[in-house]
Amino acid sequence: MIADNLKSVKRRISKAARQAGRNPDSIQLVAVSKQVSSENIITAYKAGAKYFGENKIQEAADKIDDVNLRDVGWHFIGHLQKNKIKYLDSKFDLIHSVDSLSLAEKISSYCESQDIIQLVLLQVNISGEESKFGMLPSELIAQLSVFAKLKGIRIKGLMTIPPKDPNPENSRKYFSELRLLRDRCQSLNLNGIELNELSMGMTGDYEVAIEEGATIVRIGTAIFGFR
Ligand SMILES: *Cc1c(COP(=O)(O)O)cnc(C)c1O
Repeated sequence: MIADNLKSVKRRISKAARQAGRNPDSIQLVAVSKQVSSENIITAYKAGAKYFGENKIQEAADKIDDVNLRDVGWHFIGHLQKNKIKYLDSKFDLIHSVDSLSLAEKISSYCESQDIIQLVLLQVNISGEESKFGMLPSELIAQLSVFAKLKGIRIKGLMTIPPKDPNPENSRKYFSELRLLRDRCQSLNLNGIELNELSMGMTGDYEVAIEEGATIVRIGTAIFGFR
């Protein structure tokens, strides 16, 4: 089941990439394993999943120890409370969900004290929905030069979650807006910031996200089934 699902997701990623004139290898698949058992994670790993995404920091930390696989990358994709930063403990290859300057500052100073540099993405609330975490585009642009000076993190790109919608075409404008925002940030030419990564696209809309330039897709349901 999981192995077949993974194969079919990978095939669809490759097809969407080729149709958009992109190299399929330029798109990283993060298998979102929140609420998934260690056993099923290991099944996905054996079927070829290399990166896993978790959204609850303590659950993730326990699972990473329990699964205990060396050559996989763990990504953190959930809202991180400032009092839980110590759980990061250099376990994550990438944090997708840095959603405020104050959180970035806290992560950075923690990582500096540990003598590590944490790779992160900045989460943007492109749709402006009240209920969503993430910075508004105007906030991001205004604060980017301050982010760029933080020594304990390295900013690799942007992440967004569009409004829930059964029609993937309705996500397209949010994905293209994230890409345009990224281009605009890059044109500021700030030292200490690279914005090559665009983390966007989930089970319902990852092909559209790839057409709009996603470099990382975060897919749970299509691989592990309904949570
Ligand atoms: C759960 C989750 C996903 C995966 O969603 P699916 O629809 O199951 O693919 C992706 N990104 C984030 C931030 C999530 O919380």
